[in-house]
Amino acid sequence: MTDKEKISDLLSSKPLYKKVLVDINFFNKPTDIEELSFSFYCPTDKSNQTFKLKLEPSNLLRIAASKLVYHQYESSFESFDEKNRKFKFTQHYSATCQYCNSYAVHFLLQIETENPIPVSTLQTDKSVIRYQFVKKIGQSPPFQITPDSDLMDFLIKEDQDNYKKALICRSQDYGIGAFAYLRRIVENEIVRIIEDLSQIDGPEKDKIISLLITFRENHIMTNLIDGIYDYLPSSLKNLGNNPFKVLYGQLSGGIHEFSEEECSIKAEQIDTLLKFVVKKIRDENSVVRAARDAMKKLI
Ligand SMILES: [Zn+2]
Repeated sequence: MTDKEKISDLLSSKPLYKKVLVDINFFNKPTDIEELSFSFYCPTDKSNQTFKLKLEPSNLLRIAASKLVYHQYESSFESFDEKNRKFKFTQHYSATCQYCNSYAVHFLLQIETENPIPVSTLQTDKSVIRYQFVKKIGQSPPFQITPDSDLMDFLIKEDQDNYKKALICRSQDYGIGAFAYLRRIVENEIVRIIEDLSQIDGPEKDKIISLLITFRENHIMTNLIDGIYDYLPSSLKNLGNNPFKVLYGQLSGGIHEFSEEECSIKAEQIDTLLKFVVKKIRDENSVVRAARDAMKKLI
């Protein structure tokens, strides 16, 4: 990931207190990321749109610029933390949806040098600094914990609750908790997802049903999962890997093997994959049904 992508990702999909490490040449002063664009959900347009970052407080900065004192702001934003020997600053940004031009979100970012400046170095000598941490410490409206409607429609009641809890954990960056809830969902739902797949009208339908019948007799999950790959719709096959195998693989091993950070990453990946698989099956189902209806009417 480039530094720009890291910051875009932090803004668009990471919860509070997540941080990314970027090169100081990319982001050293507040204006360096002004105009940065990223994808974000716009409730007005009910879809993901491009948002563009703006330095705040924009009104004050505009007045400052008109009085040519903008450069003073630029040179005085940073403070040196004597105790930790680090440079840091906190900056407020806003970002507006470029589609409707009205919906805006606000972020508070804290920027801090990665390593302490050695005591032997002059405080003003910044040549020893290579990287800075960019941490998201504020967001309004808050990190989205509204569950994906396609996935919620699909889940059984118990897993709808598990999913809401997983999202709450993710919003607080409780990775272990989020991972545990998502694992439970995969465990409960993986066979139901395959059953849903067997509802798609197509040449593979009977093969999938026959795999499910065998599974109900012998309960050998790996046979079911390995066997299903050949019959997946192309939208799922094109992932390059068997998504069911990847999801099921998350259930092996204990949570104790992974750090909070690792669990947090795994939780995000499971969430993304689960939403993708359920949505693709649903899309496939409705596309096939629509095509079939159209054909019937034409004949
Ligand atoms: Zn919008």
